[in-house]
Amino acid sequence: MMNVKKVGVIGGGQLAWMMGEAATKLGLHLIIQTPQKTDPAVKRATEVILAAVDDSSATAKLANICDVITFENEFINLPELQSLAAKGVYFRPSLNSLEPLLDKYDQRSYLQSIGLPVPKFNALTSDAELEHISQFPVVLKARRHGYDGQGTFIIQNHQDLSATWHKFGCPPMLLEEFVPFTKELAVMVARSVSGEIIIYPVVETYQKNQVCHWVIAPADVTTEVIEKVNAIAHTLVEKLQVIGIFGIELFLTQDNQVLVNEIAPRTHNSGHYTLDGCNISQFEMQLRTVANLPLISPSFKSGGAVMVNLLGYETSQQDYQTQRQTLASLPNTYVHWYGKTESRPGRKLGHVTRLLSKTELSQSEQIADQIASIWYSNQ
Ligand code: ADP
Repeated sequence: MMNVKKVGVIGGGQLAWMMGEAATKLGLHLIIQTPQKTDPAVKRATEVILAAVDDSSATAKLANICDVITFENEFINLPELQSLAAKGVYFRPSLNSLEPLLDKYDQRSYLQSIGLPVPKFNALTSDAELEHISQFPVVLKARRHGYDGQGTFIIQNHQDLSATWHKFGCPPMLLEEFVPFTKELAVMVARSVSGEIIIYPVVETYQKNQVCHWVIAPADVTTEVIEKVNAIAHTLVEKLQVIGIFGIELFLTQDNQVLVNEIAPRTHNSGHYTLDGCNISQFEMQLRTVANLPLISPSFKSGGAVMVNLLGYETSQQDYQTQRQTLASLPNTYVHWYGKTESRPGRKLGHVTRLLSKTELSQSEQIADQIASIWYSNQ
């Protein structure tokens, strides 16, 4: 492939918006495919193709005006993109490295097949299978298009399980054991064209109602746990021959077992702290892999960081200036506001990163609570 200057991005939400700044720094042009003019990344793109992310005829047009295509969203129509790849369109990561990951059941099966630890799981396809379940709670998951916990249900008994499944019209779903984790962890891992692998620090994530509320970087876990997570990250991108950056969400159990919950084949919310907290952000790392530029080893600018999501708590067109100003006036605090035109409960509107000194690391949860209490003060 020739020198990459124009990077096509499928998806134009906040992840592509944050990629925009890194693109400018690297002298790259971003051309995005996204459905709405009001989508966050539109204002930072050189060009925009207004179309659904799974509209492959739009992706064919995108391919004509850029050197390589990458992703901020995996809700794509893979078979149709495969016919573009066959005609010589470059995707980074390649469609082969995405293929086993797009469906949650396939993803679990794939991870198991390459020897990575996952929760016990099954496909749910018939009512008869429901009767065999003897242990609750269980977790029922939509196989595709789930995000921010939409499509993930923690279920306590047979009756609710059957009712929930039937409410969706009984599609094939993923059913798995409920993992009584002590912490949720995450890590970002990048792999370059030449096969160099870069792993960011392991972080702790905290989800309420299946939605991420805050992230603490680095996670307070043992070296043994960090080594397990790093080995998982390494195996995954090596087996898939990834060119790009992936996020891995994991469960840590009481006996220090690490299980993979989910792979995001792109930048991830758990890596937002890297924007202000590290010498290289996850967005710049993605662009460097995609444009075949040298990778940079990540390090913290301070002792660590806390990232708090600013989640919508009402339906409104407000821009929450007062809360944003109060948050921005806190020490070592950076507010990122995605500029979405409407707030809805649970919608990610922005995030806040607070850099921590080494001595503040032990207070990271209190600092996350302080930030959240300012954001939710009007609720
Ligand atoms: P999404 O793809 O929508 O983010 P996830 O599958 O990552 O959904 O689940 C969201 C959250 O739900 C997880 O971060 C975790 O808190 C909880 N969860 C998901 N699966 C399990 C499980 N098997 N055991 C316990 N909690 C789970």
